[in-house]
Amino acid sequence: MATDRYPRLYHKIEAALQDRTKSDLLRGCMKRGRDTRAAALEALPGGASFRDDVRAAKERCIENLPRLKQQFIERARQRGAIVHEAATGAEAIAYCLDLARRRGARTIAKSKSLTTEEIDLNHPLIEAGVEVVETDLGELIIQLAGEKPFHLVFPSIHKMAPDVAEIFSRVTGTEVPNDIPAIMKVVRQYLRPIFLNADIGLTGANVGIAETGGICIETNEGNARLVSSLGSCHICLIGMEKIVETVEDALLMILAHPVSASGQLPTNYVTWMHGRSPLGEGPTGDDRESHIIILDNGRSAMRDDPEMREALYCIRCGACMNICPTYGVVGGHTFGHIYPGPMGICWTAGVHGLEVAGDFAQLCISCGLCKEICPAQINMPQMIAEIKHRDAAATGHLLVNRVMMGADRAARLGSATAPLANLALASRPIRQLLEKTIGLAAERRLPPFAFSTFMNRFAKRVSRVATPRRTVVFFVDVYANHNNPDLGLAAVDALEALGCAVIVPNQDVSGYPYIAYGGMDQARRIARSNSDKLAPWVRKGYEVVAIEPTATYALAVSYPNLLRGDENARLLADHTHELFEFLIEQEDETGFHPPADLFAGRRFGFHCACHQRPLGGGSGAIKWLRRRGAQVELIETGTCCGMGGTFGLKGGLLGYDLSRAVGQPLFDLFVNSGVEAIVTESSVCSIQLAEGTAMKVYHPLELLTLR
Ligand code: SF4
Ligand code: SF4
Repeated sequence: MATDRYPRLYHKIEAALQDRTKSDLLRGCMKRGRDTRAAALEALPGGASFRDDVRAAKERCIENLPRLKQQFIERARQRGAIVHEAATGAEAIAYCLDLARRRGARTIAKSKSLTTEEIDLNHPLIEAGVEVVETDLGELIIQLAGEKPFHLVFPSIHKMAPDVAEIFSRVTGTEVPNDIPAIMKVVRQYLRPIFLNADIGLTGANVGIAETGGICIETNEGNARLVSSLGSCHICLIGMEKIVETVEDALLMILAHPVSASGQLPTNYVTWMHGRSPLGEGPTGDDRESHIIILDNGRSAMRDDPEMREALYCIRCGACMNICPTYGVVGGHTFGHIYPGPMGICWTAGVHGLEVAGDFAQLCISCGLCKEICPAQINMPQMIAEIKHRDAAATGHLLVNRVMMGADRAARLGSATAPLANLALASRPIRQLLEKTIGLAAERRLPPFAFSTFMNRFAKRVSRVATPRRTVVFFVDVYANHNNPDLGLAAVDALEALGCAVIVPNQDVSGYPYIAYGGMDQARRIARSNSDKLAPWVRKGYEVVAIEPTATYALAVSYPNLLRGDENARLLADHTHELFEFLIEQEDETGFHPPADLFAGRRFGFHCACHQRPLGGGSGAIKWLRRRGAQVELIETGTCCGMGGTFGLKGGLLGYDLSRAVGQPLFDLFVNSGVEAIVTESSVCSIQLAEGTAMKVYHPLELLTLR
């Protein structure tokens, strides 16, 4: 079964699920990162609009990278730097070893150098007899603990003060008290001689600037400035994708990076190195050298790959880590290789290989949140889907993932055999057998199948609109069609009540599970089929309305990305609406006033599904409920409920168990909120929340019949 393929991953997930303290610590830190980012965006003129500028700048710079790299090299050399291009990590390591040998270096002080981790530079240097010391506190803790970074920006986020005190007690041989000021005093004493006596300073760079040949390094501790300027030799290892065209581009990145990471404006120290000592000859003699190594190590191949190119837009802010639901439970030692988190999957595939990325890509539940927070708007969910797809092409899809991708076929069968299928799904032994054989979680209470589907019932239904104001194409999701036709018909009633004639033309399922599990050929086939079938209706002037958030997301967001440049997909996306957003528009257009006391005295907690966030965040449904007198509170943790589409329907660690652990903080919020029930538009979130909270969970339309 599934567990055979990922024994190490399963073991790590199990360990992470048992270490609640670590994941609580991590989630607390992630939340602080999100909250401070949100506060900074409020204060920023233009708010989050800087993301459009970052995206445009990165698109331009990566498009022109060969030219900009050449310009950067020429300008840096004119300013006295020795520039070397390394095609591989091995080449960069060889260069550093040779330089250390030539200069008789015994100590190298490092700062801000995740790229050196990418190529594992420390080990060969240490083997060559060079002492290598990290000087960023977080990196130093990780180095002394013999671990890998847990988070991109906060590498030792999982270490508490007592852990750090213990580490420094061990390395200094004296008892370090569990007290932060005392620890910091020891750290300063430990690092000061390193800063002063290092033979070589080794840093990364946040940005290289083509028009000036300079580099820029951001830190909060000021250590990069010491490392790069005190010693007589400085090496900067910079990934080629960090090169931007102009100083203005660099300023934009220097704003975007800390704002996105932790809401800082900007980091405490921003070091610009532009041709003065040690980049040039400097005042202390000719032996002061500045070396810049521009690393490729798979980046050119990423740039040439249309599905992976966007990864090069990454500015390493770590914001995607601050929102990723499964990362928040398992952390970077499970969800990552050297690069952790969502971007870690994409970058690992690019620089360490598809097989390595494939080992943890299954932790992505395709919620889409990383794309929404990323300052460069990188479409990581689709890139990760592509990685899963390529990985599966080499090693095959997990059986349980194949089952989930074919959920619509199972639903068709379930409806056709409804009474029997429902009996079977209610039987504990059968469910346990299904978990053992196909991986469907036995614990999940699944909605029963309807023998008479929405499609059947709609075909027999007579429209109640004599003279339509407009015509709407209704997109039917699997749940409404096979499990809850009443819900689909209630949506049709609501549209017709506002004078909209509803048609349900030939269409396929949304196909989102294929994206989620990396069945990209099938996902593209379905996207093309639906785009070609529905776009002609849009050309007639009809709008498309869907009720399931993930189905709406597939049409409105995923299809144009799957079918780049396809006119039908673009047209369909531009004319697809969430039901309640559309209903509110129609109410406003017609001047319709619903009874304002319909839900008077009722108090609901609203859950916004992840795929709704880029579509309006559930604001249409909330407004619709409030217009009818309900008190509605948006209750959220800022991340996912854990269901992740069908992820939480899978059994075991890489499904139900992880899904419940992700959802627990949200369950607690709902239970403690004092609301009478939960309202959500997502059928799968509804299952998760009902089970996790033991509260009633409704679709807004269901409230009309349940008053
Ligand atoms: S899509 Fe969601 S689960 Fe997947 S990497 Fe992004 S944030 Fe994490
Ligand atoms: S992918 Fe985006 S959010 Fe994640 S680290 Fe890179 S720039 Fe930041």
